[in-house]
Amino acid sequence: MVDQLEISETNEKRNQIIVNRKYKFNLWYTTNNTKVFKCTEYKTVNKCKSYITLNDNNKVIKYENKHTHPGKEYDASVSIVKHKMKNEIRKSSFPFDIKPKRIYEEISQEIGYICPEYNTIKSQILRYKNKQLPPDISTFNEIPDESEYYINERNENFMIFKNSNIIIFQSPFQTELFIEYNENMFVDGTFYIAPTFGYQVFITRVYAPEINSFYSTSLSILNNKEQSTYELLFEELKKNASKYNNNIIITPKILHCDFEKGISNAAIKIFPNITIKYCVWHYKRSLKIQKYKLCHNEVEHNHNIYLFYKAVTNFPFINPEYIFDIYNYIKIICQVYNYYHFLNFLEYFNKTYLYKYDIQCWNYCNDINHITNNASVSFNNYLKKLFYKKPSFYELIYHLKKEESLSYNNYKRKIGGIWKKKEEY
Ligand SMILES: [Zn+2]
Repeated sequence: MVDQLEISETNEKRNQIIVNRKYKFNLWYTTNNTKVFKCTEYKTVNKCKSYITLNDNNKVIKYENKHTHPGKEYDASVSIVKHKMKNEIRKSSFPFDIKPKRIYEEISQEIGYICPEYNTIKSQILRYKNKQLPPDISTFNEIPDESEYYINERNENFMIFKNSNIIIFQSPFQTELFIEYNENMFVDGTFYIAPTFGYQVFITRVYAPEINSFYSTSLSILNNKEQSTYELLFEELKKNASKYNNNIIITPKILHCDFEKGISNAAIKIFPNITIKYCVWHYKRSLKIQKYKLCHNEVEHNHNIYLFYKAVTNFPFINPEYIFDIYNYIKIICQVYNYYHFLNFLEYFNKTYLYKYDIQCWNYCNDINHITNNASVSFNNYLKKLFYKKPSFYELIYHLKKEESLSYNNYKRKIGGIWKKKEEY
């Protein structure tokens, strides 16, 4: 009776056999050219004496079929599903992408009606999946200088620079984009997707006007937000680009960035002729935060103050020649009516946006092109959606690489003319 003998594996070694989907046999001992498996019920009150002997080629040479107990169909099917799922997970070279539930659904279809619920095996499968991942990194110093994970899908090295404060990823394709479209350079940092040990992920992007698209040109993990670290980043990007550009130096014209002096000072130092444009989205967000801190109630409950607040948030779009006058007019009225909290807000605005930063850096009246395109910010939102919690280092690298590959294909398709302008939105 050796019909329908189904053999599964628990791990790389074959040490479990399931027969007719109802009897489980575990490896008992091996000899030079045979393996003997005993029914798992031999230890229980059933004291089942059934066993199976296999030869070198895993062919059955003896099956002692004297079960003292009924078949355990459910128990066997749990094992079969687990073995099959582990096989699928083991086959995948990058286990970050594995969707265990989807694998389960395919397997349960083929198993048929006796199949355990996904939830009963879920925790074991997730533990197995995690064991397949590369070891996690918990400090910046543990980041390796070289890794198979730094090789992108086109077999190119993706990592161009690393020291104790920064690691920079840029593929040759991204370098070429930077050379081609460096007139407007967008940068933004995000803490949300940084691996737990890293301070921030910093992304540089460019805009390709002929196909109306933004592309990332580098992705870095920074250990701090020192100006010197940003300088190093810009210096390396400049160096790498000129290496690919017959040693001709790249000179970006406009840098669009967050209100962070460290970034703009670093950019000016490395690219002396660059113009700094702060991002309107950050401008509005920082005013909103100050509103909550200083004058939320006044703005919400007094319509005049509400209109003043709106006027200030719209300063980036107003002719800069009028800004001081409007600011002073609002201030005088607030003093007359003693709008004490809003005066504090105006003082913050004055110190930050009229003194600390040049109005030209956040005013877009003469250059309306880029105000609606908070390219980096929306890209960060896209990345955020990929991670439901802070990613591990390798998980982040894996996703950055994947994004690089998608944008490579996207760019080649659009620039190749297959892409039709009319399909845009
Ligand atoms: Zn048995």
